[in-house]
Amino acid sequence: MDAIARSLAETGLPHLLRVAAAREAVAAGAAGDADRIAAGMAGHFLRPVINATGILLHTNLGRAPLGERSQGGAANVELDLSTGRRGQRTTSVSLLLRALTGAEAATAVNNGAAALLLALATLARGEPVVVSRGELVEIGGGFRVPEVLAASDARLVEVGTTNKTRLSDYERALSELPAEAKPVLLKVHQSNYRIVGFTESTPLPELARLGPPVVADLGSGLLDAETPWLPGPPPRWLAGEPAARQSLSEGAALVTFSGDKLLGGPQAGVLAGAAELVEQCARNPLYRALRPGGLVLAELQATLLAYAERRYEDIAFWRMAATPALQLRQRAEAIADRVGGPVAVCDSRAEVGAGSSPGETIESAALFLPGDHRDALLSQRPPIVARVEGGRTLLDLRSVLPEDDGTVEGALKQLVAGAGA
Ligand SMILES: *Cc1c(COP(=O)(O)O)cnc(C)c1O
Repeated sequence: MDAIARSLAETGLPHLLRVAAAREAVAAGAAGDADRIAAGMAGHFLRPVINATGILLHTNLGRAPLGERSQGGAANVELDLSTGRRGQRTTSVSLLLRALTGAEAATAVNNGAAALLLALATLARGEPVVVSRGELVEIGGGFRVPEVLAASDARLVEVGTTNKTRLSDYERALSELPAEAKPVLLKVHQSNYRIVGFTESTPLPELARLGPPVVADLGSGLLDAETPWLPGPPPRWLAGEPAARQSLSEGAALVTFSGDKLLGGPQAGVLAGAAELVEQCARNPLYRALRPGGLVLAELQATLLAYAERRYEDIAFWRMAATPALQLRQRAEAIADRVGGPVAVCDSRAEVGAGSSPGETIESAALFLPGDHRDALLSQRPPIVARVEGGRTLLDLRSVLPEDDGTVEGALKQLVAGAGA
C-alpha cells in the first residue's frame, strides 16, 4: 500500500490521501486504478487558475477574481483600536458602503442569498411580501425567490403577470390585505434573463410611494450607475443593471446585493438602507449564523477602499472590464508572434457572467488554434480554462490579467510543440 501511495507523489496530494486512494483501488481489486482515483481527488483541490474563457465573473471559478491580498495572522475583527474595547466586525465596511452608496446604514453577510433571507426574515416574518410574477426568478445554484420567501416565514403575495405588472396590481393587492398586516414590497432584479416585447414593470419610485418599505434585491452589486471610479463614462454594457446608490435615492428602504458579482470583491452579501431596518436585521439571531469571517471582511474592506480611492485597477474585475480592446489585441498579437505555428489572433466577445448584464458582450481579442485543446490546457500548471467555438480553442484575453500572459505563452508553446512531435 505504501509503495502505491509513494508512486502517487506527483499528484501533490498529502500522503494520507494517497494512501486512501491506494486503499480504495486495492479494495476494488484494481490496484492500477490508484492513479486515476488520486488524480480525481487532486482535481478538487483549490488552486489558482488562469481564466481564458472571456467570462469575467465565471461561476465555476468563484466569480470575481481576487488578488492575493490576504495577510493571514491576527486582525482586529472585533476589536475597536480607538478604545481598546470590543467593537463590531462590520464597522469598516459599513462606513465605506455608506459613503459609496449614500445609505444611512449597511452591514455584510456571507452572500447575496443570505442578505435577502435575513432582510425578509427580519422585516416580513409572518407578513405578506408583495412581488411581481415577473420577478419570481431562479438565479442559479438553486436560489429561487419563492423558496427564500418560504424559508424566511414570509407570505408570498404574487401580483401581475409574467410580462406585465402595473402599479394598480400592487395597489389592489395592498388594499385586499387585512388592516393589521405589515406588508413589504419586494423588487427582484431579473439578473440572468430579460423579458422583451410586450412588457411592463413598475419603476421603483412609484412602488416607494405606496407606503410599505420596498426591499430591492439588486443581485449584482453595482454601487453607483455613474461609475465614478472609472476614468471614462459608464460602459454601455452596464445599462440595465440597477445600482445601489440610485435605488436608495429612488426610495428603496433596503437594498441587498452580492459581493462577488459587479462589486468585484469576495463572496459576501450586503444589506444597505434605512438605519432602523439595517439595525433590526443585525439584531436578528439569524445574523449570528450568517455573519462573514475576518478573511471575507478584510477582502471586502480592501475592495471598497479601492472604490473609495478610485483605484479601479486594484479591483481585478474592473481592471479586466475596462481594458481597451486595442490593448488586448496587442497583447494577443505579441503572444501569437512568439508562439508561432497554428496560433493566431481573432476578435472575440467577452461576457460579464454571473447573471449580470445578460445578452451584453464586451469587445475583446482572443488567441485561437484549431481543434479542442481544453483538456490539455486544464492539465497545465497553473491550469488554463479556455472555450471552444466553431471547432477552435479560444483563449480570450479580457479575462486574463497581463501578469499571466507569459504563462499563457508557455502553455501554448508546449501545446504546439506536443502537437508537432
Ligand atoms: C446572484 C443573485 C442572488 C444571490 O446572490 P449570491 O451572492 O449568489 O448568494 C440573489 N438575487 C439576485 C437578484 C441575484 O442576481
